[in-house]
Parts: sequence; structure tokens; C-alpha cells
Amino acid sequence: MPQAEVQTLAMVIDRWPFRDSDWVVLLLTPRVGMVTALARGARGSRRRFAGSLELLVLSRVRLRPPRGGGMHQVLEAEIVQGFPGFWEDLVRLETGQGLLLLSRDLLREAPVTEEVFERVREAVGRLEVAPRESAHGVLWQAALDLLACLGHPPHQDRCPHCGKTATEWEAAALGPDGVLRCGDCAGGTDRRFSARALDPGSGRWPGDRRETERLLSLWVSGILGRPWALPGH
Ligand SMILES: [Zn+2]
Repeated sequence: MPQAEVQTLAMVIDRWPFRDSDWVVLLLTPRVGMVTALARGARGSRRRFAGSLELLVLSRVRLRPPRGGGMHQVLEAEIVQGFPGFWEDLVRLETGQGLLLLSRDLLREAPVTEEVFERVREAVGRLEVAPRESAHGVLWQAALDLLACLGHPPHQDRCPHCGKTATEWEAAALGPDGVLRCGDCAGGTDRRFSARALDPGSGRWPGDRRETERLLSLWVSGILGRPWALPGH
């Protein structure tokens, strides 16, 4: 018996051209989590999905679940909200793409709850209007939010080396293994930064854009247990 169709909000997290005129899209949704879906004719006709399967837009989609294995199928899609700010500034656009990549890889094996979806959606909205010089800070904050939501809070309660309570840390350090420790226990190859950067509300970031993105890459590598990097690192 065919499964019921699903109507849900969705954001395209990644996509690949398929055959002559189709897209295969990776969709992040609050209702069915992260799913791969085939959008027939999406590349062949501009009217068919009218921009709703672009990156960095929020859409409403109607999906037909796969029969047995395989992909969902996108039956209909329409834009709910566009984020035109991304197309006004290259740095912002790159940071937005970084957020999608981060979401794709962190959420691939995680349960995508409605809360997780909302975090990503909010982060996209904040990034769209971020000044170019602080867009990396917004990305950093979004990553902290997302990690906390997935059960990886920004830091453990205590330094794994000396046991000092995290609230007393002045500096934090991230080792090449992606494990955080207090700044006093930092080794030669660790990246040190202000411990305030771990407090999402503090508005303090570990450094400039490149340093922030390097730190984020290192951290996510530690969580995923494999090398991971934002584009350009
Ligand atoms: Zn320590």
C-alpha cells in the first residue's frame, strides 16, 4: 500500500543534478527529518518549482515517501521565505554555505527534531542580515546552539586534565583531537581563545573570520571523528 504523502516546511541543505532535468535534493524538515528526494523536471523548467529548491530559501514541500528503499519524491514545492541578504554580500553567502555544510554533516546521523530545524532556520535568518565583519561570529554562535541542541554542549563541566570548573576558565583551548580543555592545560599545538567565546550570549568571538572558521573545523572534526573543514580551510 503506498504511504501517505507528507506536507512539510523544508530547506535544501545540498543538491546534485540528476539525469537531464532533475535535481536530487537533501532536505532538512521538521516533520520527516533529513531526507533525500528526487525533484523531477526541477532543472528543466523554471516554473515547475519556481526557485523553491534553491539553497538558502525556506519552502513548503509535498513529498511522496519511497516505496521500499530509495528516495522521496518532491511533488510540489513553493517558497515560504527567501533570504535575499545572502545575495548582497559574498562573505555572508559563504558563511551561509558554511552553515548548510555544518548542518548537513552534524545532522546526517542525528535525529532532526522540530527544535533542531528551528535552530537552523533562525540561524539562516540571522546570517542573512549579519554585517560582513561579524558574520563569522553569527556562524560560531549558530554552531554552539546546534551542538548544544544535539547534546554536545560548548564545553564539559570540568577541564579533563586539571578538573577546574569550566565557569572559572579564563581561556579555553582546543586540542588537535577536538577536545576542549582549560587554557592553563593547553599544549603547544592547542588553539587558545577567550573562554567567553563559549558563552553564546557573550557576543565575544575567538578571533577573526579565518581563526573562527579554523577553530570550528577543528571542533567539528573532533565530534565527527574524521577530518572536517569549512570550504577554504
Ligand atoms: Zn585544565
